Amino acid sequence: MRFADLGLNPALLDGVTAMGYTDPTPIQEQAIPLVLDGRDVVGCAQTGTGKTAAFTLPALQLVPAEGVLRILVVSPTRELAQQIEVFGLAIAESTGHSVASALGGVPVEAQVKALKKGVDLLVATPGRLLDLVNRKAADLSRVEILVLDEADRMLDMGFWPDVRRILALLPAKRQTLLFSATMAPEVLRIVNKNLVDPARIDIAPSGTPIEAIHQALYPVDESQKVDLMVALMEAHGDFDRTLVFTRTKWRADAVVDALSRAGVAATAMHSDRSQEQRMKALERFRDGRLRVLVATDVVSRGIDVEGISHVVNYDVPSNPEDYVHRIGRTARAGASGTAFTFVSIMEFPELDAIEMLIDSEIPVEELEGFPYRERAVPHEGRLAGRKKRRAFGGRVMGRRGRRR
Ligand code: AMP
Repeated sequence: MRFADLGLNPALLDGVTAMGYTDPTPIQEQAIPLVLDGRDVVGCAQTGTGKTAAFTLPALQLVPAEGVLRILVVSPTRELAQQIEVFGLAIAESTGHSVASALGGVPVEAQVKALKKGVDLLVATPGRLLDLVNRKAADLSRVEILVLDEADRMLDMGFWPDVRRILALLPAKRQTLLFSATMAPEVLRIVNKNLVDPARIDIAPSGTPIEAIHQALYPVDESQKVDLMVALMEAHGDFDRTLVFTRTKWRADAVVDALSRAGVAATAMHSDRSQEQRMKALERFRDGRLRVLVATDVVSRGIDVEGISHVVNYDVPSNPEDYVHRIGRTARAGASGTAFTFVSIMEFPELDAIEMLIDSEIPVEELEGFPYRERAVPHEGRLAGRKKRRAFGGRVMGRRGRRR
């Protein structure tokens, strides 16, 4: 299947060629004809599958370039919104549409000005969009196509009340496209309430099959996680581009401090950082000046960086699906990748949920010569209980099991 077979007009095909894309990804192949047909679409797909082009290309074909806000994309994070805007701007070079963003955390004036001049496609985070509506800078009454990107994430981040307010401002007659990495019951409820006879597309998580990643568990006392992180980096010389995940912003900062003291260039990326700080950090990480980026799950979805050699789960994620999302950042495109998970005894329940989800036990490793204090090692003695539970419950969850 080629882009030219999907019904896109010549200007958009030029844009696609200019982007260097030759063949559509599976989600593009499926979504583009449906959107062009005017259908509502639900896409179960995560970042990395090519979903941005899957909705942006056909949406731009459906509306004229007149500077009237007819396409609205709502996204949970600034990073993601910015990536969508950059893609839209690139395609608009060929089509003549005007594309702008309304992101929180940056001055509002330029956004007001852009909207005044006229925008065909607006990418927005929910809070800032409502702010612009209140200032009478954004008029949503002529929106024809609404894209809700990463709906599950918007729910997780508590944005749904804002999104509901936005929905109320839109014309009832419109085309709605919703994307979500998971189809939790809450997401399905939203789909049923807000979409009309939607076509459903399921795309398996792209990128890295979990088997291609070297996964290891490092049991360690909570108080020694920082030391272990530094010692591991010293012992293994191959931590080229490392993404570290922590549970909280505070912990992200603490890891950065410890690494910096040990002479490792690291920066934290979380929601307290300004937009500019986040962009700068990403840029430095991408071009290799920064070896370690420490992030919380909230901001991690927008991190689309090639060549990540290591993912370190400094804290075990409390949502098991986040484990798969986190480690999938490494070993892209056939490269090798390593995912280390630090686990303290307090985190055994979360670990258990992850191992149920991925349907395998993550092997335990230890760093030779590290002065471990007393620590609990998982799997020893837990196994029997777990096997029994599985036997009773059958295969509760497979690789694509859902827990939310
Ligand atoms: P997305 O899932 O939209 O964030 O896209 C993930 C990455 O894949 C981005 O870096 C895109 O530029 C890239 N991409 C999207 N569609 C294609 C395509 N058809 N061919 C090659 N690369 C693509």
